[in-house]
Order: sequence, then structure tokens, then C-alpha cells
Amino acid sequence: MSDKTSDVTYECDVLVIGSGAAGISAALKAKQQGLDVLVVDKEPYLGGTTAISGGWLWVPGNKQGIAEGDTREEAETYIKALAGDSHDPAAVAAFLDLVPEALDFFENDADVRFHYPEMAPDYQMDTPGARKSGRALTVQKASGRMLKRNRLRVQPYLYTYTVFGYMPEIGPDIATFLKANRSLKAFLYVLRRLVTTWVERTLFRRAFTRTNGNALMTRMLASAGDMGIPMWTDTKVTEILGNDAGVVDGAVLTGAHSGRVRAGCGVVIAAGGFSGDTRLRTQVFGHDPRGDNHFTPTIGHQGDSYYLAEPHGGVLDTRPHQPASWGPVTVWKNLRGQDRIFPHLRAFGLPGLIAVNRKGERFANESFSYHDFGVEMIKENAGERDTFGWIIADKKAMHTYGIGYAKPWPLPTWYYKKVGYLVAGSSIEELAARIDVPAAALKRTLAEFNADAALGRDRRFKRGSNWFHHFKGDMEHKPNPNLAPIDKAPYYAVRIQMGDLGTYAGLSVNRRSEVVASTGEAVPGLYAVGTAAVSVFGGGYPGYGANIGPAMVFGYQVGRDIAGHAAERAGGLQRTAGRRRDR
Ligand SMILES: Cc1cc2nc3c(=O)[nH]c(=O)nc-3n(C[C@H](O)[C@H](O)[C@H](O)COP(=O)(O)OP(=O)(O)OC[C@H]3O[C@@H](n4cnc5c(N)ncnc54)[C@H](O)[C@@H]3O)c2cc1C
Repeated sequence: MSDKTSDVTYECDVLVIGSGAAGISAALKAKQQGLDVLVVDKEPYLGGTTAISGGWLWVPGNKQGIAEGDTREEAETYIKALAGDSHDPAAVAAFLDLVPEALDFFENDADVRFHYPEMAPDYQMDTPGARKSGRALTVQKASGRMLKRNRLRVQPYLYTYTVFGYMPEIGPDIATFLKANRSLKAFLYVLRRLVTTWVERTLFRRAFTRTNGNALMTRMLASAGDMGIPMWTDTKVTEILGNDAGVVDGAVLTGAHSGRVRAGCGVVIAAGGFSGDTRLRTQVFGHDPRGDNHFTPTIGHQGDSYYLAEPHGGVLDTRPHQPASWGPVTVWKNLRGQDRIFPHLRAFGLPGLIAVNRKGERFANESFSYHDFGVEMIKENAGERDTFGWIIADKKAMHTYGIGYAKPWPLPTWYYKKVGYLVAGSSIEELAARIDVPAAALKRTLAEFNADAALGRDRRFKRGSNWFHHFKGDMEHKPNPNLAPIDKAPYYAVRIQMGDLGTYAGLSVNRRSEVVASTGEAVPGLYAVGTAAVSVFGGGYPGYGANIGPAMVFGYQVGRDIAGHAAERAGGLQRTAGRRRDR
């Protein structure tokens, strides 16, 4: 991408920086209001991190939840309990007020079709106000055909999350994949999916079926394309411009569409968080003071949101008690030397896997959500140079479930061992020596865990004691979906380090999602949504979809109101004339 800026000036009403869930939500609603919208993204593909995500939205007050008896009070109680001292009741109220209207818009006026799962438990089921279902929704599969000429422009899946190019959907689909080595019916189902994917990739470069976050972005971007919103990739915003009165009214672009943009109603920063930026990480992530102890799978989250807003007074709001939604990851290089990352969002709640620290001891409930487990992992490693742990499993667990990226039988384990993802030992002592933890301690840990696991209990950390834990486990495993002894050689280990799914600390914003300066005043014409902005949940991770839910809801709100705000400022909307459009 060239860094030079040309003399061209593009005109629009709204400039959206970033093409993930937050940005496209704002763009769709603004366009529906009759505004001229331009979306730019610095990546070669559209869809951002959202396109590699699970595609869930945590949105209490949706129609399924209401039908099941969920109440506003319960949702507020639950969110407040998770946020603790970082609770922001006004922001939470704004979010909950908007949910029904925003979801209606996406379902009725855009191509987004949600799936309302029967069960998607909140992440902390023992906290007051938690519910087993009705708050988290996901999206129905999509066909790449709906994107028409944009079919190949969507960010591909996270490579390590696919099985031969197909990303199983969370729910029955992934459950069937996990059973493929135990049931002929499941095996045939998987075979059909994989063969179709292979044929479509061979003939058409990309499979038509899109799942999870890729389905969400396929649907949203298809709507944006149909509405005629120009979406420029390889185009980076390097500066946000303001007029003499301090009103933000444009930006400087480099790359494929280099030039200046004049945006009559304002600029929406939806450019993600900062977990890919060493400087901001060292300042905000307590476990990463040198900038080399954190690994993010996010796409394009290099802190641009903050750096672009800062000259206009934008400040980082670091009040959330956790600065990011944590997700432990494994990092390695493949045989061609390419960096690979696998976020462990489910794996170690399964029976027969535990996590241990450098001393060979368990340190947390492995059936916690990735975020809550991440909080414990950071605490456990406080004061250490490196934040890490080991997932330990035995032959049975490896054979039945695999360990994250390392797939179960019948796939061989040699590849995972060769690239260093998986470590194996023919005895506990041998494994302990290979991963440099004390063998006696690891043996003690396993003996204690196994005695309880055989009885379906975990007195130490209460793993497998609620619906959320069970949902993350193997529901068919008895007597407890999360617990099985680890006692059959060979033994396996996978190293986990700290990663995230997006930052929770972010640009300070008001209830209108306007960027707020250190003076407490809103920066007129400048908005931040999604992981660019501070999270509404105060550092808690309530359930599936804690990032994308608010990203879409607040993105929608900005699209709805941005022209009204401009009109407030100008005493009447001044539509820009003589636009130049260059798709
Ligand atoms: C494997 C995985 C699974 C996940 N599953 C879920 C889930 O199911 N539910 C959930 O809520 N969250 C999930 N998350 C987290 C979630 O995907 C992200 O936090 C969320 O999608 C962020 O949305 P966004 O719109 O803020 O940013 P993004 O979707 O990342 O979009 C930001 C875009 O801005 C662009 N950009 C950045 N700087 C510039 C610039 N200067 N100029 C132009 N463009 C720029 C980037 O290139 C990027 O494309 C998951 C994350 C991962 C990694």
C-alpha cells in the first residue's frame, strides 16, 4: 500500500473507517436514512475481525428472550454484577433501550437473518440475573453468491479454525463434527460438508457456504453492496480532519484510494481496538509491560482508532476492570515458517483436559469462559516474565476431542508434534520433562483431579457445576459433561499464552457514541463504535457475543442519528453537492 496521498477529494455525508460489524452497521443505517456513505478499510479484505469470529451477538431484550420471560431488571442485575466498580448504568441503559429496534432493522431492512438458539447460557450462570438462553443469538448460514461482485472480497476464515476449509457452526454443526469419529451418521455429514467445500473452492476459489462471523459479514456486506455503498479496501485513514470550529469533517486516505475525503455529517471510527499495538499494550495491559507477552488474532487492531482521534482530543477510557476480552491462544509456525495462532475458545472445558501452570498445578476452572479463564491465567502469572500455562490431556481425550487445533482420531498427531503445537510423552514423567514442569507435582495434580473426575465432580474449582460449563463440554459424556480422568498414556500438552478477542478499554464516548475529549466535551462530528470505543460491559464478559452485540447496536444508533446531530450543529442539514464517486 502506497503511503502517498493524491490531490483527489472525495465527498460524502458519512465516512466510516473500518468494515467490521460496527462500521457496516453504521453504514447500513446511515445509507437507509438517505445519506451518502463511504466505507474504507486498510486491509485487503472487508469484514475485519468480525469475519473470522463466531458471529454471536449478546443482546438481552431480543424477541426470543422476551418470549422466554427475560426481563430488563434481570439483565441489568447481571451486567452490573459482572462490571463491578466499572459499571456504567447510563451506557448499559442506552444499549438495552436500543436492542429491539436495532435487531428489527437488521432483520427487516438488511439481509441479516438471526438464529435464536434453544440454549446459549450466559457465561457466569452462578451470578444473579444469568439466563440459560434468550440473550445470545447467532446468524444463519449465508451463501457467498449474495455478495455478487464482492464474493471474493470478504476476509477469509481464520485458517486454524477451519477443517479443510470449512468452519463448523457453533451448536449442532460443531457437535456433529466432534462426533464424526464415533458415529457413522456424523461422519457422513462431515464428509458431505468437506467434499462440497473442496469442490467449490477448487472450481470457484472460495466455498459458497459461509458460517459464523463470516456469514454475518457476508450478509451485512451483501446489503451494503445492494444499497450501493462504496467499500474501499487497501485504503488506510492516516489523519482525521476538522474545520476551524473544531468540527470533524473529513480524513486523509492513503493506499488504493489515496486522497482526501470531505464528510458533511461526520466520521465514524470503527477501526477496532489496540491489542495489535505494542505501545498501547505496554501502557494498558498489566501482563505485557514489554510488549512481547500478548498475542492477538484480531485483524487490523493496531490502535489506529485511538491515534486518529487523539489529535482531536480523543482519550482512552481504561476504566473497564479488564482492558480486553481475553482468550488464551497457542502460537506456532507452520512447516513453511508462517505464523499461526489458535484461540482456545472451547477446548479445555471438555472431559479429560486440564490446564496447569509452570509448577504443574491447576490454577482455575477450565470450564470458565475464555475471558474468565484468561483473568485467572493473568493473575496466576502475575510477576512472571511470561504469561502461560499448559493444557494437559491423555490418549482418550486426544483420541475423542483433540486439543483445539490438533484434531482427534483418525487424523494423525505427527503434524501437530512436528510444528511444535503438540508435545507428547509416553508417561507423565516424560511429558513433564518435555514441558519443563516438576513431574511429581504434575502427578499429584492428576491424581487429585482424577479421583474427583471419576465421580463427576471437581471440589477444587467446581468445574462442571453449571449449565454454561456443561454447554462447553460434551453433553453426552457421563456422569459429568466436563470431567473425565486423565490416566491413559500417551499424555499430551499444548502451551497456551495470553490473547484477546478485542479490547474493552477504548475511546471515551458518550451515550450518542460521540468521542469525548479529556475536557468532557464531545468532539463534534467524530464517533467511535465497536472495539474502537470503550466497552459497555465494564470489563465483564456476559455471554456469547459481548463484542459484536454492542458493536452492531451502537453502530446502528450512530447511523440513525448522525444526520440529526449534524443538523443540530448547522441548524439544518446542509447536504453536500457535486460529489465525486470513485468505486
Ligand atoms: C476467533 C474469534 C472469535 C470471536 N467470536 C466472537 C463472537 O462470536 N461474538 C463476539 O461478540 N465477539 C467475538 N469475537 C470478537 C469480535 O470478533 C471482535 O471484537 C469484533 O468483531 C470487533 O468488531 P469491530 O467492528 O469493532 O472491528 P473489526 O471487525 O475488527 O473491524 C475493524 C476494521 O477496521 C479496519 N481498520 C483499522 N484501522 C484502519 C484505518 N486506519 N483505516 C481503515 N481501516 C482501518 C481493520 O482493518 C478492520 O477491518 C471473536 C474474535 C475472534 C478472534
